[in-house]
Amino acid sequence: MSSVLDRFLQYVKIDTQSDPDSDTFPSTSKQKDLSELLVSQLLELGVQDAHLDEHGYVYATVPSNSDKTGIPVICFCSHVDTSPDVTGANVKPIVHKNWNGADIILPDDPTQVLRIGELHDLDQQIGHDIVTASGTTLLGADNKAGVAEIMAAVEFLQTHPEIKHGTIKILFTPDEEVGRGTEKVDLEKLGADFGYTVDGEAVGTLEDETFSADGVKITIHGVSTHPGYALDKLENALKIAGNILAALPRAISPEATKDKEGFIHPVQMEGIQEKAVLSFIIRDFTATGLHEKEALLKEITDDVLRQFPNSTAEFKVTEQYRNMKEVLDLHPEVTENAFLAMKRLGMNPVQRSIRGGTDGSRLSFMGLPCPNIFAGEHAFHSRLEWVSVQDMEKAVEVIVNICRIWEEKA
Ligand SMILES: [Zn+2]
Repeated sequence: MSSVLDRFLQYVKIDTQSDPDSDTFPSTSKQKDLSELLVSQLLELGVQDAHLDEHGYVYATVPSNSDKTGIPVICFCSHVDTSPDVTGANVKPIVHKNWNGADIILPDDPTQVLRIGELHDLDQQIGHDIVTASGTTLLGADNKAGVAEIMAAVEFLQTHPEIKHGTIKILFTPDEEVGRGTEKVDLEKLGADFGYTVDGEAVGTLEDETFSADGVKITIHGVSTHPGYALDKLENALKIAGNILAALPRAISPEATKDKEGFIHPVQMEGIQEKAVLSFIIRDFTATGLHEKEALLKEITDDVLRQFPNSTAEFKVTEQYRNMKEVLDLHPEVTENAFLAMKRLGMNPVQRSIRGGTDGSRLSFMGLPCPNIFAGEHAFHSRLEWVSVQDMEKAVEVIVNICRIWEEKA
């Protein structure tokens, strides 16, 4: 029997970094090195249908062992890739056993230090076993902690037939970090009613809310002339674009907002005097808030254009993703059962919102309502990334208990 720690240490040593500039799927074939290992380990655990599909997704089923019928099919999902921001090659994980709270200096780059007060939740971990990388790479706890926890939970269920559960589906996805994790997923084949991504942060947390997101593209057509003969004729599209940016209220920017506040955020600008294109992302937790921000941006654009009477602008809104809470509110038992599992283990569950999107928000709208539960991952996408062994063990227990509770309630 392998512990969740043994699994985690094995998985983080496999480089699975994804690549946003790649056209292939998965974006890097090395992600399959881990996926193939997971399939062989699932087969060893007796999960007979475990397989890797042609796109790099791992699908597997732990069959129901309950006499009850009509138990919803529950999926647990994690991603195998790591962030393109920091290298994931040659990760050397270090276990700091029974940590006493002192600064953790990473040996391969002593400027990388984990310090209480600088990293949140770290002060909760005194006495725990903390796993870090060695200073020059990320650790890959995002999301290999989740992968290890799901695998350990499968092993537990397979070796404890006295724990009754319905059909459990396992899904390991590639390319989450480059925003393509759900691109080629086959939900019909998966056949689950509800899911949980295991990719969250502190013990006891569950995220059932994400931003709703649109993109806006403003294409400005100015009036171009020879600059030497431009008197009273030239309307420079670059200056129109600049005026629009200058008129954006600071209070509705990413740098001035937090918690449940949304924003208008310019992300790209290109142009010549005749034509300029501004690209924005709009974020809010509600559709109304999203539409209000888009209306404001349109108003600013129209105001600026009034000073340039012979210029025009096209204003195009594209839907990106929606707050998964819209879907999860229709199925409150998904979140309730996760909270119940945490409470049974003596935790005080905390509901959190994500100021971003997740694979779970996409899956929820694709038909698999899917909140995110904690995996214990911290300081994502950095060389200071850490996870504690005790948190990973708690996540395994939560997964097992979620399976149990769905069976009990059926
Ligand atoms: Zn992740």
